[in-house]
Amino acid sequence: MDANISRTLRLRVEKTAENLRKNGFEVQILEHATDVVPVLREIIPDGAVVAHGGSMSLAECGVMELLRSGPYQYLDRDRAGITPEERLECMRQALLSDVYLASANALIESGMIYNVDGNGNRTAATLYGPKKVIYVVGVNKIVPDFDAAVSRVKKIACPANTMRLACKTYCAEKGECVSCISGGNIENGCGNTSICNDHVLIRRNNAPGRVTVLLVMESIGY
Ligand code: SF4
Repeated sequence: MDANISRTLRLRVEKTAENLRKNGFEVQILEHATDVVPVLREIIPDGAVVAHGGSMSLAECGVMELLRSGPYQYLDRDRAGITPEERLECMRQALLSDVYLASANALIESGMIYNVDGNGNRTAATLYGPKKVIYVVGVNKIVPDFDAAVSRVKKIACPANTMRLACKTYCAEKGECVSCISGGNIENGCGNTSICNDHVLIRRNNAPGRVTVLLVMESIGY
């Protein structure tokens, strides 16, 4: 990467991190995706009950392998042979985990976290329940404002996820939300097949130490 582009990107990341800290979030800036697992080893105590939301960012960083092999009580919602009922129960138990891991659909430069869920398990856990929440977020998720966060979901995150999950949605076929035809407003979207039902904007955190953002200087996830 060109040195000036790199410097510009770093200043944007540092500004976002500073604003997140002002809003009560702990932030660590990591240079590489490969730094995530070693940092999580330091943060997550042995024996902790650990869970996570669906996340390509976590998968790309090797987090699931860490949880399966490490000294944790891992609520593995994707383990081989798990039944739909067991998976649902696993996601319910995650709401009382010691440590909950997730990524974000967007980090707003002013220091806010934006996530959109289909059934709300991830957004619920990040808001209340788990004692500790750790976000792993790539630099590609930083956006200038709320409108850009909504647009990012409608034009990048959701189409890519519906393609991955083989959902029969407009965005999986066309590469952008059906609402983009009429301006992409947050209140508009598709119907029964939608994975964009719960929009959660976290403005700040009032529980000291509960929320940590690992902000990775590489593009990871959707
Ligand atoms: S509301 Fe529907 S069409 Fe729009 S991005 Fe979400 S899943 Fe795709």
